[in-house]
Amino acid sequence: MPRFAVISDIHANLHALCTVMEDALQRQGCTEVVCLGDVVGYNAYPRECLDYIRSLGCPVVKGNHDADVSGGDLTRMNPVARRAIEWTREQLGEEERVWLARLPYQRLERSLFTLVHSCLDQPMAWNYIMNANDATASFRRQFSSLCFHGHTHVPRVFIYDGMRASEDAEAMDILRQEGEVSLSLADGYKYFINVGSVGQPRDGDSRACYVIFDSDARVVTFRRLVYDVASAQQAILAADLPEALAERLGRGC
Ligand code: ZN
Repeated sequence: MPRFAVISDIHANLHALCTVMEDALQRQGCTEVVCLGDVVGYNAYPRECLDYIRSLGCPVVKGNHDADVSGGDLTRMNPVARRAIEWTREQLGEEERVWLARLPYQRLERSLFTLVHSCLDQPMAWNYIMNANDATASFRRQFSSLCFHGHTHVPRVFIYDGMRASEDAEAMDILRQEGEVSLSLADGYKYFINVGSVGQPRDGDSRACYVIFDSDARVVTFRRLVYDVASAQQAILAADLPEALAERLGRGC
């Protein structure tokens, strides 16, 4: 009876990751973890978060920050993100960078659901799926009824009825208000679900976000959790990372 914790965009925020994992594994009864990438970047604990994820031995797909840390040209990146990537590269060893570089862009998990960081139509282009229109091209490449993604750091639910894509905004309103919302997946539809961000939420809510998938009941539950933002911010400043990265954690943007 697998019960999956689906986590994404941890971004080296160890305080948020520990809070989420404690909730998932100790209180919510999750039996498996899957990770949608961007384990590193922005926050102050890249090595610790990478060690934690690797110790779980769980499926992981590659995020754009995982790719950038493992190599490539940063000249077109904005200065804050670039500084964070350069700093992160210095913290990690060769073996860790190679491990990140070898992550797949997408994978099908036990015929139950697909994992991808950004989208299925061009997973290496790191496109942002901001609305149902953006999601349409991805749905055409989605061969499982359920796919989880991240990348925008904003939790969203897209639904495809075979003709067109729509978005369940009401569920996300409940999530904002209640800190939790559950959805029962209906037969005959495809779902493309953004699980939000563990380590750097950007929907105006500073709480860490993740999803639980009960594959027998076919129920997806979003959870928001208060974590020690102040300590994560202090660690960013102590590491001499850009102050803007600490500020945005407090604002959830
Ligand atoms: Zn990210």
